[in-house]
Amino acid sequence: MPRPELSLSTLAGQAPAELDAYWMPFTANRQFKAAPRLLVRAEGMYYHDVDDRPILDGAAGLWCCNAGHARPRIVQAIQQQAATLDFAPPFQMGSPLPFVLAQRLAALAPASLNHVFFTNSGSEAVDTAMKIALAYHRLRGEGHRTRFIGREKAYHGVGFGGMSIGGLPNNRKTFGPLLPGSDFLRHTLDLERNAFSPGLPRHGAELAEDLERLIALHDASTIAAVFVEPIAGSAGVILPAPGYLQRLREICDQHGILLVFDEVITGFGRVGHAFAAQRFGVTPDLLTLAKGLTNGAVPMGAVLASDAIHGAFMQGPTAAIEFFHGYTYSGHPLACAAALAALDTYAEEHLFERALELGDYWQERLHSLRGLPHVVDIRNFGLIGAVELMPRKDAPGARGYEVFERSFRDGQLLVRCTGDVIALSPPLILERSHIDRIVDVLGEMIRATG
Ligand code: PMP
Repeated sequence: MPRPELSLSTLAGQAPAELDAYWMPFTANRQFKAAPRLLVRAEGMYYHDVDDRPILDGAAGLWCCNAGHARPRIVQAIQQQAATLDFAPPFQMGSPLPFVLAQRLAALAPASLNHVFFTNSGSEAVDTAMKIALAYHRLRGEGHRTRFIGREKAYHGVGFGGMSIGGLPNNRKTFGPLLPGSDFLRHTLDLERNAFSPGLPRHGAELAEDLERLIALHDASTIAAVFVEPIAGSAGVILPAPGYLQRLREICDQHGILLVFDEVITGFGRVGHAFAAQRFGVTPDLLTLAKGLTNGAVPMGAVLASDAIHGAFMQGPTAAIEFFHGYTYSGHPLACAAALAALDTYAEEHLFERALELGDYWQERLHSLRGLPHVVDIRNFGLIGAVELMPRKDAPGARGYEVFERSFRDGQLLVRCTGDVIALSPPLILERSHIDRIVDVLGEMIRATG
């Protein structure tokens, strides 16, 4: 039977019933379908919507497209790869591509992180890192270390592992008891002491001591790993005070606990280095990646593992499978081709450095929004930004959503809203003029929102 096709040009005018088949993720489906926002193409700093209006991308899609959109080198790499080798079985077989890509990633990563396990998403990378941590401890005779420590307001994806160590209540509360034994560090957002801090907040390094509280409560011998996003993105950009991550590292070392950085959004230049680990001078034992790994063009995630962890797996008989874990699409040729081309683009255009070069201007312009109605905090680091708005009484999130919706509709600007926080993460190819436009439009939309 021929499939009915949705005509893109008329889609915006269609009744919700005709859009019902697609159950959209993390979306108010009925609200969206009544007035859909649909993107049909993209190039450089811009999307184009169904009416062919250019939409300035202030979000790098969803923290993914660090080199901007439809970069010819990445497009060609994917096309050529699809025509040459579309798929290779990854178990007891392989193509050369993931080997090459893993070497490239190890060269970019902090010195001790030399081994790469490929997944298809950030969520899978987090769950993979959790399984690596559990298996690592067991291999070393410490199978009693089964507990994970996450952090309030953290987002580590939607797998049962990542959900269990995530600290955003909405993502957890309808799904039962989740993985037993997880506990949570306090989050580091402190508007009372740190509102409108340019760059990293001054106060809050002492919150790392909260890990000592959890260790005293549970006993270090029960804890496998601590997971943190160096900068929490999905909760609305929560930054660490200087010294906070260093102190977590020290405490983990003292107690034989693994430290895992979830760099799904901070990876690939967002904060001025390949990884936030390097910007903050703290090396984790495991590091999770996705998004910018392929510039968002093909789904892919990865876990970088230290020599010590990888080495523990490589001890047994050589004919034995060392880790009973993997995905049909681990190291998929198209994803590897896209990632290699993305890494080439980042390097050739010095895009990681751009977040440092533009950081001061980004900071100055964003903070010029201080004083606008409802703005209770402005946060920035690298090419990440957040404008936090006072929630409306009895309707938390409504003001943030309205600014997001108006920005798209009236301002032709894509931003992200998480609750009443407007989060910004533009492609690293942006110019000062784009920064001006992002800030000007956002200011106008905040003023227009009651
Ligand atoms: N970890 C972090 C820190 C993230 O920001 C995200 C996605 N926003 C994920 C994990 C999950 O990634 P994915 O959506 O690719 O599963």
